[in-house]
Amino acid sequence: MHNYKKILVAIDFSDYGNLVAKQARYIADTFRAELHVIHVLDNIPMPDTPYGTLIPLDGPSDDLLLQTEKNKFIQICDAVQIIPANRWLIWGVPQEEITRLSLQKKIDLIIVGSHGRHGLAALMGSTAKNVIFHAECDVMTVHLRGDQ
Ligand code: AMP
Repeated sequence: MHNYKKILVAIDFSDYGNLVAKQARYIADTFRAELHVIHVLDNIPMPDTPYGTLIPLDGPSDDLLLQTEKNKFIQICDAVQIIPANRWLIWGVPQEEITRLSLQKKIDLIIVGSHGRHGLAALMGSTAKNVIFHAECDVMTVHLRGDQ
């Protein structure tokens, strides 16, 4: 089996975001791997910012919606003890930013939930499918059921 050194977990803020993050922490600890986390903002408009698409997590934002999303992200990151330098909050299209960051950071395992905001109706969420298709490293899906 591959000895993973750098793991990236992709979280949304659905009911399952915490669960996926916890599972990723467990796997990272098992492999003694570095754990990175990404959330892609695809549902709020991008304000006029000098930062490009990467959002700094230290310091408050003028934009209330952005501040709410930052707080949710920080809460999950803190809960699973991901160090600030490995937290990535980025604007864009989830599957594109997840695969782009995985290449940039030389990630060898991406962890996504099987479902997210698009619900459990589909067999597998569209983000998970697209990441599996486009990633150049291993991808693990945490199987999520309605009773979790
Ligand atoms: P979905 O395609 O929305 O059903 O989501 C499936 C999985 O993709 C989720 O459990 C997350 O792991 C990941 N994901 C979905 N949306 C995002 C997002 N905006 N940022 C980061 N990861 C996401």
